Amino acid sequence: MTTCVALLLSATALLIYELRAYRDAWVADLATQAHLLAGASVPALFFDDARAAGQDLALLRHRPQITAAAVYTANGELFAHYAPEGATANLPAHPAEDGYRIAGDEIELVQEVRRDGERIGSVYLRARYEVMGRLVDYLAILAAVMVASLVVATLVFNRLQHTVTRPILAVAAAAREVMEKRDYGLRVPKTTDDEIGALVDAFNNMLLEVGRRTEALERSNHELQIEMEQRQRAQAALILADRRKDEFLATLAHELRNPLAPLTNSLEILKIADADPATRERTRGIMERQVRQMVRLIDDLLEVSRITTGKLVLKRERIDLPIVLRTAIEIAEPVLRERRHEFVARMPDGPVWVDADATRLAQVFANLLSNAAKYTDAGGRIELEMDVQAQCVAVHVRDNGIGIDPRMHGAIFELFMQVDRSLERGRAGLGVGLTLARQLVEMHDGRIEVHSPGLGHGSQFTVELPLCHDPAASRRTPERPASGLTPSVPLDLLIADDNVDFATSLGEVLEALGHRVMLAHDGVAAMAAARARPPAVAFLDIGMPGLNGYEVARRLRAEPATRAALLVAVTGWGQNSDRERAREAGFDHHLVKPADLAQVLPLVESVARRALQDAPVTDRPPG
Ligand code: ADP
Repeated sequence: MTTCVALLLSATALLIYELRAYRDAWVADLATQAHLLAGASVPALFFDDARAAGQDLALLRHRPQITAAAVYTANGELFAHYAPEGATANLPAHPAEDGYRIAGDEIELVQEVRRDGERIGSVYLRARYEVMGRLVDYLAILAAVMVASLVVATLVFNRLQHTVTRPILAVAAAAREVMEKRDYGLRVPKTTDDEIGALVDAFNNMLLEVGRRTEALERSNHELQIEMEQRQRAQAALILADRRKDEFLATLAHELRNPLAPLTNSLEILKIADADPATRERTRGIMERQVRQMVRLIDDLLEVSRITTGKLVLKRERIDLPIVLRTAIEIAEPVLRERRHEFVARMPDGPVWVDADATRLAQVFANLLSNAAKYTDAGGRIELEMDVQAQCVAVHVRDNGIGIDPRMHGAIFELFMQVDRSLERGRAGLGVGLTLARQLVEMHDGRIEVHSPGLGHGSQFTVELPLCHDPAASRRTPERPASGLTPSVPLDLLIADDNVDFATSLGEVLEALGHRVMLAHDGVAAMAAARARPPAVAFLDIGMPGLNGYEVARRLRAEPATRAALLVAVTGWGQNSDRERAREAGFDHHLVKPADLAQVLPLVESVARRALQDAPVTDRPPG
């Protein structure tokens, strides 16, 4: 196509040029002829010799292309003329303007005749202008040249195209293969060092780069996939935890409400003044059990939160495990008895030493025992067995109760996990007991496991603890609190707490024991009461309006009359930093709410005993 277009353009240009050259040559030729004739016609015109002019014109017979010629006088009259033999001249009556004109296939030319600068006539020439024949000849030649050139161009193109197209086709094939097989290791062989070679190099480099990037992309895709799976797992865990939380909240509400109905009923009974003492005593028993149940639920929750936030510190010492187990049995005893289970405990006679926190361990085993009692139909059989080995001791708590599906063995130790809520609705619990047990056992470097052949086949929980072989480890026996139910000596006591119910109820109990109690519900009132009658013991809430407990303690310590009082902080904050702050403020003891009588009475009792020892013999009360 390119060759063809180039040839056509050059042929057209050549043709135009050639036609113009042909015309110019003809005009120049006729002009020369006319000039010669004009020169020769001067004497004939001057002497009015038409015959001589005719003879000059007759010489034109040697130019066959000239078809007519004439000489005109100065005033435009025909003077002499010529026409080839056998042809008519067909001349114009008067000569046209000087110059040439082309009309069809004839060309005419008029040339003036001058003598001494004066026009004396004109010469007229007419010739055949054979431009069409010429044009046809030219076109034929050009067509032949074009065809020949195109043939040659096609031959050359056929030879050359392979050197150009082969590497490009190879690049295209490699690109297709890369797309199909995703093999970025493919390379196109380089055959030349020209532009095609540069193209092949660029393509190969591009493949290398694309390969590298694809690899990096695949790697990051893989990482992304792993991350996504982790996120999905985390999300699933979150959803599960969220569901457990919702279920837990429902259970919690249920479990906390449960004791409220019997408590409300009991209060109504107590309001009836003429209730007989036996009814009152039974009612009191109900209230005590229900309150204990609520306290246990809340304690468990607080304990889990303390462990999960890392705030629980074990008070470990060398203790005799059978003693701990007996304490646990005592705690679980009411529920064992209530459900009329047969209970068997097998323990070695001698001591079995472990390095542990006795209270926490008792809590673990009490939990396992009360679970065994709860999840066994009334009249079942519960066993506790201790198995002492070389390095460790294993305690098994066995029941013949509802059993646990083996698929749930791992899950039951998770927080708020309860196997079958519908079944257990009647059995108090929040799904925290086993979580607490496992965490406490693990804090003791031990482990806890469950074995159950399946639903309906009973369960066995095993706690394994390392034995303590170090006889040098000190055995610090915790001080046994004094029973404290009868006062050794009546004391002045101050109870300052903005929780009016708590202050009043504690005050009433202490008054019932014979002490003189002052109540205050803010810091300023507490100071006023203490100044009016300096107390032997002051129980101070920390978060009180007016002056807070720390401030009251500081002031009591600063005043001579109250300096010696036993100061007890009673607060909801039980962290080490809170205890430290209380100690700095001058407190002797720090009780975490809800402080019960078992904690309060020994403190009062210890002061009373000291007062008794210090007092003269005659002051001692009888008995
Ligand atoms: P709670 O007893 O308050 O529901 P736990 O954490 O103590 O919570 O126990 C978790 C779950 O494990 C219980 O809800 C119960 O389904 C199951 N479970 C615990 N002990 C036993 C047992 N001895 N027999 C059968 N199932 C038990």
